[in-house]
Amino acid sequence: MISDNCYDFDSPQEECGMFGIYSSDEDIDTVKETYTALYALQHRGQESAGIVVNDGGEMKCVKNIGTVSETFSSESFSELKNGKIAVGHVCYSPQNRLTPVAAQPLLMRYLRGSLALAQNGALTNKAQLHKRLEQGGAMFQANTNAELIAYVIASLRLNYATIEETVVKAMKELEGAYSVILTSPSLLIGVRDPNGFRPLCIGKKKNSYVIASESCALDAVGAEFIRDVEPGEVVVVDENGLRSFRENCSGKTSMCLFEYVYVARPDSVIDGVSVYMARQKAGRILAQEHPVEADMVCGVPDSGLSAALGYSIESGIPYGTALIKNKYIGRSFAQKKISDREEILKVKLNVLKAGVEGKRIVIIDDSIIHGATCAYIVKILRAAGAKEIHMRVSSPPFLNPCYYGIDISDKSSLVSNMMSTQQLCEKIGADSLGFLSIEGLHSIASGAKVGLCDACFSGNYPAPVPTEVFEDKFARKIEKK
Ligand code: SF4
Repeated sequence: MISDNCYDFDSPQEECGMFGIYSSDEDIDTVKETYTALYALQHRGQESAGIVVNDGGEMKCVKNIGTVSETFSSESFSELKNGKIAVGHVCYSPQNRLTPVAAQPLLMRYLRGSLALAQNGALTNKAQLHKRLEQGGAMFQANTNAELIAYVIASLRLNYATIEETVVKAMKELEGAYSVILTSPSLLIGVRDPNGFRPLCIGKKKNSYVIASESCALDAVGAEFIRDVEPGEVVVVDENGLRSFRENCSGKTSMCLFEYVYVARPDSVIDGVSVYMARQKAGRILAQEHPVEADMVCGVPDSGLSAALGYSIESGIPYGTALIKNKYIGRSFAQKKISDREEILKVKLNVLKAGVEGKRIVIIDDSIIHGATCAYIVKILRAAGAKEIHMRVSSPPFLNPCYYGIDISDKSSLVSNMMSTQQLCEKIGADSLGFLSIEGLHSIASGAKVGLCDACFSGNYPAPVPTEVFEDKFARKIEKK
């Protein structure tokens, strides 16, 4: 995937990846399994990483800004003594303002002991919840969705006999997108919001249960996929095995279609649909919707590759490679050394001159936000001697913000709101440009066991959007200094 944080200018950024394990096997090291799983989920966020291990209610946490490899050292592992339960998290911060205290999992100590929580998604009633809890005396350190959810659970806990009942009731106060993995002293709990915006699945290794954002993390730790957590479901793992609470499961569901296009790893299966096959189908439909005569079809690595293969199969145009992605650029490269976008793109993507010279090329990318990356790609293909360049995009034009956890925030900066497809084609310098239709987008996930969200393309929001903007007063003061 092109999920390279601040140097990926023309794809939306993913938010978070999570993993939790409850071990019922003495030979399973929960910290090692969580560490391994976080590597498999690294594509969902490279801004921070963390693990909490729970040894009978005594919880230890190591987390920091950075990727998994940057965050954990051999000292981290001696700090994280093995426990029966562990929860891990990797994160992307939309405004690049993540601080170590906002990194997850969040570890809280309250009246009923310790609670550690990892979250993916965005609450749409964050401003209202924050105000209400603050007026009730809550003190926030991180101002994250995870912190709010933890406060809601902690404040309700005394009203209910068990933590699992509390979590089920807490969901009634939360609106928007949230998948959560948390551990109380003796339980591992997985939660998926009633719309099911973000994925969450359950696996089993020997007698131990794991919960993860994507099934690729189960494969990485050798766990067998059991099933997806249902939208609205709360799953609880303890010494008696897996239990489920479905009190919040009855509504209309709307899993994020963009997970299939870009966010998830191609080797994951989400709600019954293989991400790889969904991307390939997007390419096939693109070939039907926007056919063109050409000599070679190629993808922008990595998420455009499967769609390019689909286009090639459907059109009969040979599949080839035009662009090589440098996979070894770390966050620090973009943050510390180079500020010019094109300079960064030059290091990130290079053209395979011998493959494209004199050819009519169909090049497939997953999405266009501002158009800068596409323009750069067309430019380097042209400079390498491509005769014609036909850009195809395996999603419809972005026209609306996402309020459910993907960083597509500013409607006025989305290039498809500023110009027609023909004008955009001219702007990026391509010979033709074609986007997947919304109908085509839905059909890539036609076998999904849940309903689907397409709001950033269609404007049809499946759940209420924020009515108030959350403002971090303290962050603003710091910025003014
Ligand atoms: S608005 Fe778009 S990115 Fe956001 S959840 Fe819906 S489909 Fe996904």
